[in-house]
Amino acid sequence: MSRWFGRFQRKDSWYDKYDNGESGRPVSLERARSESEWRGALSPEQFFVLRQKGTERPFTGAHWSTTAAGVYSCAGCGLDLFHSKDKFDAGCGWPSYTKPIEDRVVFTEGDRTHGMVRQEAMCAGCGGHLGHIFPDGPPPTGDRWCINSASIVFRPAD
Ligand SMILES: [Zn+2]
Repeated sequence: MSRWFGRFQRKDSWYDKYDNGESGRPVSLERARSESEWRGALSPEQFFVLRQKGTERPFTGAHWSTTAAGVYSCAGCGLDLFHSKDKFDAGCGWPSYTKPIEDRVVFTEGDRTHGMVRQEAMCAGCGGHLGHIFPDGPPPTGDRWCINSASIVFRPAD
């Protein structure tokens, strides 16, 4: 993963334009890419979700119904984001988790698009859009991290 990170460049990145050091965003992010670099590195669907904040259609992604043990990492930068033990079937057609694998691997921000007030979840490693957080999840957190399959890659446990 560290070698992968080594190719990132901070100059003119998406992140620089919006970094304000407030609202939970990491103050510095050394591993961002330009838009054209992202286009070259990601599939069209991954680019749509991660870099254009798109949402895949429910029940179409690779991970909405998976139950295997393992870790889900960011499709943009490889950072480990969610663990299968925190995944649950929310019936919504997207992979859903009660919490991220660690608090510091994600950051959140209020999102007022589409006539709704939602919390947007983003990867702390690359600023990529992952999905949204809703307060209707099961214990222990009561949160539902509703994540696009296209934004994550599954790595089965050994
Ligand atoms: Zn990432």
